[in-house]
Amino acid sequence: MLESSEMNFEERMVSPKKTENDNEDFEVTLRPKTLSEYIGQDKIKENLSIFIEAAKKRSEPLDHVLLYGPPGLGKTTLSAIIAHEMGVNIRITSGPAIEKPGDLAALLTNLQENDVLFIDEIHRLSRSIEEVLYPALEDYALDIIIGKGPSARSLRIDLPKFTLIGATTRAGQLTSPLRDRFGVIMRLELYSVEQLSDIIMRSAVILGIACDKAGATELARRSRGTPRIANRFLKRVRDFAEVIGDGRITEDIAKIALDRLEVDSLGLDNMDKRMLNMIIKGYGGGPVGLETLASAIGEEAVTLEDVCEPYLMQLGFISRTPRGRCATALAYKHLGYEYKENADADNGQLTFE
Ligand code: ADP
Repeated sequence: MLESSEMNFEERMVSPKKTENDNEDFEVTLRPKTLSEYIGQDKIKENLSIFIEAAKKRSEPLDHVLLYGPPGLGKTTLSAIIAHEMGVNIRITSGPAIEKPGDLAALLTNLQENDVLFIDEIHRLSRSIEEVLYPALEDYALDIIIGKGPSARSLRIDLPKFTLIGATTRAGQLTSPLRDRFGVIMRLELYSVEQLSDIIMRSAVILGIACDKAGATELARRSRGTPRIANRFLKRVRDFAEVIGDGRITEDIAKIALDRLEVDSLGLDNMDKRMLNMIIKGYGGGPVGLETLASAIGEEAVTLEDVCEPYLMQLGFISRTPRGRCATALAYKHLGYEYKENADADNGQLTFE
């Protein structure tokens, strides 16, 4: 096994994105199939169940839905549930996979009435593809140009009525014409420790892993609000339970295993700690701009923004100010530093120069 310092980002134990070690079957097995099995995100579930019921009563497709939030929170899962509850098929693709307008046309013309088309990372669709998508979303039609030059003419093809579900980690990067075409826009939140613990207990039952409540809570506490990480921990820690224990995941086993995997008591790993250390030691607690911070620790700014920040902000460890990121007193305390009052002068305050 690699030392964590040798691991690239995609191999991090706490990466909320799918890694090469996450096998597809494992995720599929653990995916809840109905809204009632889907744990947490209560507001989203309540609203969706009303929209789904109303659409079914009218025998119409559900309005186009945009789901956004950090990776691993259940956007793909929720989309499959929507299709299941609507009693229709789902086609799954992603922004970067649709390279040519013809790729999108092929997907759209193969849909059946009321089907769901799921496009992950929809912010990565190219402009030319977006142009094809607009009439499809508004009028269920494709405008195809036949021929070139003066003899070119446009042909309109009718499509079956369908629902587009777009998922993105960065709603801000969507063009506004695309964003405006979604009737329903929903933001997924990081999960609480209790909800993650329920997800772990549910997964343990499905996988036949013995895990007690305290063990599940310990795994949940370190899962950074993210079900994908929680399920990955369950799978990894089972190995420890079998080798150093009696097969049951208890609080002690969970602690020993995750400590060995260098995931600390709150789920922080080396990358988070390097980021916090750099703010505290390198920049006197901040504020420091994200780009500066990223190059100082040799990571990409998007990685810090998408992966480290949401969780560090939820913990209240960093705050964003117009002049950059600051470490808070809680972060100092967690890393064992004495907190300096002046270093935090900008924290949470909107200061303008
Ligand atoms: P995303 O598309 O947001 O990256 P996924 O839908 O692929 O995330 O979810 C990752 C994994 O987490 C899935 O295997 C699923 O089993 C689990 N999961 C996500 N949300 C929930 C939930 N609310 N309840 C139970 N399991 C969940």
